Amino acid sequence: MSRLYKTEGVVLKHSYMGEADAVLSIYTPALGKLRAVARGAKRSKSRLGGHLEPLNHCSIMLARGRSLDIISGCDTLETFMPLRANLWLMSCGLYVAELTDRLGVEGTENRSLFQLLLNTLRSLSDGVHPGIALRYFDFRSMACSGYLPEIWRCVACGCALEMGSHQFSAPAGGLLCPDCAPALSSLQMISVNAIKVLRFFSRNDFSAIARLKLKPDVMREIEVVMQNYVTYVLDQEVNSAKWLNKLRGSGMWLTS
Ligand SMILES: [Zn+2]
Repeated sequence: MSRLYKTEGVVLKHSYMGEADAVLSIYTPALGKLRAVARGAKRSKSRLGGHLEPLNHCSIMLARGRSLDIISGCDTLETFMPLRANLWLMSCGLYVAELTDRLGVEGTENRSLFQLLLNTLRSLSDGVHPGIALRYFDFRSMACSGYLPEIWRCVACGCALEMGSHQFSAPAGGLLCPDCAPALSSLQMISVNAIKVLRFFSRNDFSAIARLKLKPDVMREIEVVMQNYVTYVLDQEVNSAKWLNKLRGSGMWLTS
């Protein structure tokens, strides 16, 4: 095995180690999540530091190390500049990065998750409504990590669901028919319009969702359902989701 190798990747987060080094979590197409060290990244004259900012899409050269691999070179491919100029958009980008970091597995390829991450950052940059981009990311990231919620049939008995409002159960993993719902707890009523949006998410790509327009109450409903589901799957709240709620409450954001 060669000591040096190259990969593209999106920087999900970095933390400093010692006086000058940084440990990065990077999401790659073929290697899944990759943790690597950038020596001297904290120094102001570092060649690497600027390229390795969170959310940057880079081409990275690495050398195999004993425990963590070491970044020896890096070129920036995309910086998603509009996100860096807007606190709300940047926070949305960091939410997407945190969720990818939690779902991604080190050394395990998941090209769909990588492409979804990249497409979500691009659509946030290109002005797609951030609320829609994030909920689409929630839904599709669950789907491509093996947690696709059941939204067409009752998750308990398998009957086809009639068009209408239904109960959603995060522990059961989807929608329930009126016969099965009473036997379960942790239910959330979800309206027919919100169910239609989730079904639209399951069948369409970014070019279609970019044109979607949703009423605020439907958007909010989907946000609550998906965040409950994501929290259940991860067995933990997403920190950046709490931060986004705080920002929204403070009115410090420019757009929702
Ligand atoms: Zn049922």
